[in-house]
Amino acid sequence: MILTRLADNTANGLRRISMDLVWENNDRPRQTLYFEAGGKTAEILHANANAFAIACLPLAAWLNEERLLVEDKLCKRLRYGLSSINQVFKQWFPRCSLVDVQASEGFQTTRPPDQRRVATLLSGGVDGLATLRINRLDYPLDHPESIKACITLFGINKFDIDEQGNQVPERLDAFEAVVGRLSELADAENYELHPVRTNIRSLAPGYSFWVKMGFGAGHSAVSQLFQGTYDKVLLASDGDGPNPPPVAIHPVFNQHFSTDAVRIQSEQDEMTRLQKIDLLTDWEYGRRFMQPCHYVHIPEGGAINCGECEKCVRTMLSLIGLGKLDEVSAFEQKDLKPIRVFLIPVSHAGKAKLLGQAIGPLQKAGRSDLVWAIRARLALYYLLRH
Ligand SMILES: [Zn+2]
Repeated sequence: MILTRLADNTANGLRRISMDLVWENNDRPRQTLYFEAGGKTAEILHANANAFAIACLPLAAWLNEERLLVEDKLCKRLRYGLSSINQVFKQWFPRCSLVDVQASEGFQTTRPPDQRRVATLLSGGVDGLATLRINRLDYPLDHPESIKACITLFGINKFDIDEQGNQVPERLDAFEAVVGRLSELADAENYELHPVRTNIRSLAPGYSFWVKMGFGAGHSAVSQLFQGTYDKVLLASDGDGPNPPPVAIHPVFNQHFSTDAVRIQSEQDEMTRLQKIDLLTDWEYGRRFMQPCHYVHIPEGGAINCGECEKCVRTMLSLIGLGKLDEVSAFEQKDLKPIRVFLIPVSHAGKAKLLGQAIGPLQKAGRSDLVWAIRARLALYYLLRH
């Protein structure tokens, strides 16, 4: 793969930074990967190829490209990091190639800004909100580790971009609703909000690639566009413990998406998803804005969560087990039927493990109907997996 033509253009009030992907070992058309933003966010974006190398390394490995030639310069630290990540992917998924990363203008040192400033990724989901909440509880606002900004992405949902490569208007409207909530939160919690649009998910060759290798790289990639403003960007764990099954955000390699200009740091690797949900129910904005929904369908009537998808159901199971679903206004539903639980998709081992976390609290809450539904669903998953 060749990454070429780093471009930086402004149109219709949005600044777009992009690079073209040219495939060498695949019969695939030339593609363009972009990130774009408006307003104050556009003013601080820093066009650099490191972001694109991070986004494309997993793609190149998954589709067996022999090299990733970046027609620009890359950070020296990232050169080593990409090699580490690639080797982990190769061990986990033998179908991957070991990609030779090259930079036509060489590998150079990059520098963080003189003043330390930390940002985090925040979509409104449980993991990102927990990272923000814990940071605010742990640090005074003037501490260098205190979060100064949150980056939120449009374009990481499969349905955000249509087959012609256009941003889907209804999805943009839903994104603007999220931005509205996170802006209210920004006023309350003293951070800057940076909404960024990208087409990265539309380049992913399927769901399996995205959840195994693409998701974490996409989030780390956009972080590198904030060179010069933030020296560190936090990446919330999936809530699956410090040694989760192979998945695209993983403590074993998250930090290797770093440059010397912007370090990537895993957060809450030690916490379970259930612990994070419990923490958020003790916080007004957690109860109001918690948005774990997959957004396969945009929730109707301005609802924050659909209450139907796998992630909504899993989160509601946790809240029922904690005895707190009634208090969480982000969900309109106040209970679940066992058949709804049995019918949710379980796509990989990580999801199965997360679903199993709900069993203990539900037993204590006396909800044996939901416990049996989970056990039946997990039994079906493990039976069909082999
Ligand atoms: Zn949902």
